[in-house]
Amino acid sequence: MRTTKKPLALIILSLVFVVTVLFLVNEYKSERTETSEAVYKETGELLDDVADEANRFGNERVGELELIAKYIAIIADDKEELQSFLKQQNSKMPFLAGLGFISPDGEIMAADGSRFSVKEREAFDRAMSGHITTSELFNFEQNPDLQVTAISVPVNKDGKVIGVLSGVISMTDIIHRLVSDTSLLGTVYLIKNEQVVYTSGDEISEADSIHKSQRILDGIPNAPSGVVVEDEKSAHYLFYKMAWNDWITAVDSAGHPDMEKMSAKRWHYTFIACLVLIMSIGSYLYILKLEKRQRRAARQDVLTQLGNLVKLEEDVNYFQQEKQESSTIILLNLLEFKNINNWAGYESGNQILMKVGKRLSDGLVERHTTYRIGGGEFAVLLPGNRTRKQAEEITANLCDLIQRPFESVNHETIRLKVYAGIRNVDVDSKGKATQFINDVVFACQEARRLTETPYAYFTDKLEQLDSERKLFVKELSDALNRGEFKLVYQPIFSFKDDKFVSFESLLRWDSAEFGMVSPLEFIPLLEESGMILEVGDWIIQEAALQVRKWRSEGFSELYVTVNVSVKQLLDESFISRVQDILLETKASPDSLVFEITESVVVEDSEKALQTVTKLNDLGISTALDDFGTGYSSLAILSLLPFQYLKVDRSFLDDLDSTDSQAASVLRGIVSIASGLGQVTIMEGVETKEQLDVLKEIGADRIQGYYFSKPVPPNQAFKLL
Ligand code: C2E
Ligand code: CA
Ligand code: CA
Repeated sequence: MRTTKKPLALIILSLVFVVTVLFLVNEYKSERTETSEAVYKETGELLDDVADEANRFGNERVGELELIAKYIAIIADDKEELQSFLKQQNSKMPFLAGLGFISPDGEIMAADGSRFSVKEREAFDRAMSGHITTSELFNFEQNPDLQVTAISVPVNKDGKVIGVLSGVISMTDIIHRLVSDTSLLGTVYLIKNEQVVYTSGDEISEADSIHKSQRILDGIPNAPSGVVVEDEKSAHYLFYKMAWNDWITAVDSAGHPDMEKMSAKRWHYTFIACLVLIMSIGSYLYILKLEKRQRRAARQDVLTQLGNLVKLEEDVNYFQQEKQESSTIILLNLLEFKNINNWAGYESGNQILMKVGKRLSDGLVERHTTYRIGGGEFAVLLPGNRTRKQAEEITANLCDLIQRPFESVNHETIRLKVYAGIRNVDVDSKGKATQFINDVVFACQEARRLTETPYAYFTDKLEQLDSERKLFVKELSDALNRGEFKLVYQPIFSFKDDKFVSFESLLRWDSAEFGMVSPLEFIPLLEESGMILEVGDWIIQEAALQVRKWRSEGFSELYVTVNVSVKQLLDESFISRVQDILLETKASPDSLVFEITESVVVEDSEKALQTVTKLNDLGISTALDDFGTGYSSLAILSLLPFQYLKVDRSFLDDLDSTDSQAASVLRGIVSIASGLGQVTIMEGVETKEQLDVLKEIGADRIQGYYFSKPVPPNQAFKLL
């Protein structure tokens, strides 16, 4: 019975989670590859731009200086002219930090009028020997904070170098301008002579910059260009390239905003994955909870909140197999409980069931569990070893508890009848819980047939009994064909007429196999099997023929009462079959009275009313039988049109004198019945005293052993 969706849910949820994570990882990876490729390309292009720009700039400056040098060669002798020309050119060339003419002795005439001697000797010497040179970096004379480089162009006059024109360029300044023109992403470095001259990017601290520069320098091989740092993971690239005149330009993609975005995305995806994980765990916990609730509900009776049959089976198995402990199952079956529902209403019925559950749960000192396993079926499971006697005592207690009166919603007193079965389950008992429960059900059915106790203990003998019962039923089903049924008649005495006015017909089974069997034993079986319909027809027919015979023999007023079972009465074709029997037997309808027990009212009062009315219409009178037993109420008297009221013999139990309480109760019943125009018949009168009291009370008719037991027809005739 244990079906669970847990593993499946776990697999599905894990799968969902894993698929989500894989998807996210894949998505992130491809996005990052794409971004890093774009960054790679962009950084490379940026480097090219910067390097090109640097080359172009350098070449342009050299070209300009060469032109100036040509003119200087012409005016070199006129110092004043030279000075003003330098000044004029310098102001025209915003890219130059300074301009100066160096005479062969190393004396510099600067455009701003200052004079000093050359510092970059090597570059100067090379220029003097006719080469255009670029100096190493040095601090600018006029502004020592500025790192500069000097382009030295020889000034040729008549094929002879007469001096050097030196243009001082602040590279930092220039490159800064170049770089800020591009939409710079990443960091640009300018390196000369293994020294980082310029770093773009304000966000880089000086320490950071030095540290980075060192890494760049360490990484830069001798090769003129390439990528030094390539970190796939962080998609960090450092490109470098030789630019004009030994300058190395490098572009670093670290800190590229697209890559920053990627790291934000990673958090984003991780967040989604966590969310899915939390949702999966949440869903799983919810499924667990739901399943637990479902499991509990599947094992619980909705009305009483007690365990149900499934739970009982589980618990029985648990004690026997897991705990290796003996236990006792007690089944308690409320007799015809559905009648309570019909009669007192479902609300009362439900309330009573709840109260029964509570009484059973609270009513024992022993450790036990109570279950409701069917409509009116309860069970109690007692763990531990118990003798048969102990188990029976406990069961008797439980039966007592249930048979104590209940109060219905309308404050009526309701008494229940209960039958119980007991089954001991040992550790080595063969079979499973279902078998043990079947056994206890069987024992409970057996209890219904017992007279001494309302319970039966399951033994191997009981099983044997079952086969005997099967034989019994088989024999019974053939009894009608074999002619084993007979009717006996018990006279009914009328005070008013002072003679027997009728007979009650009572069925007997004279079985070849079992001898004379009491109707109390076999009528319930006929009813259960439905055979009562066929046998019932036979009874009516037999009684009708008998009364017709007696009438023809001179007792024209005589009538016979016939017991009609609820099953017959509620059968669809009952009325038409009765009509057929009347036709066949030519019996007069007024020679028959049908005795009906009040259970018919309880089972289907509307249908009963219809049938009883139809019988009356046919001319057949009706009697309410066994009044005072079962769920009697006085209201029942007016519910159906009965002409006779047969008061159950249990009323006679305490009827010792005319002023006893029993007498006053009977007096009340008689007066109500006569008020309703009903003739009262007192059943089971055995003594003269009872007769006298009943006469005094005002009962109309008497039936009982006092006059005669039920006897065969010929003897009955003699009584007349
Ligand atoms: P019942 O209809 O209440 O029948 C009266 C029962 O009381 C009869 O038992 C009768 O023998 C018994 N009785 C009569 N006077 C006395 C007395 O003074 N003292 C005591 N202790 N008992 C007395 P019986 O014949 O054993 O029938 C038992 C029940 O079986 C009947 O109760 C009736 O419910 C059912 N039954 C009998 N015959 C038929 C039948 O033909 N058809 C149907 N459907 N049920 C029948
Ligand atoms: Ca009867
Ligand atoms: Ca009766």
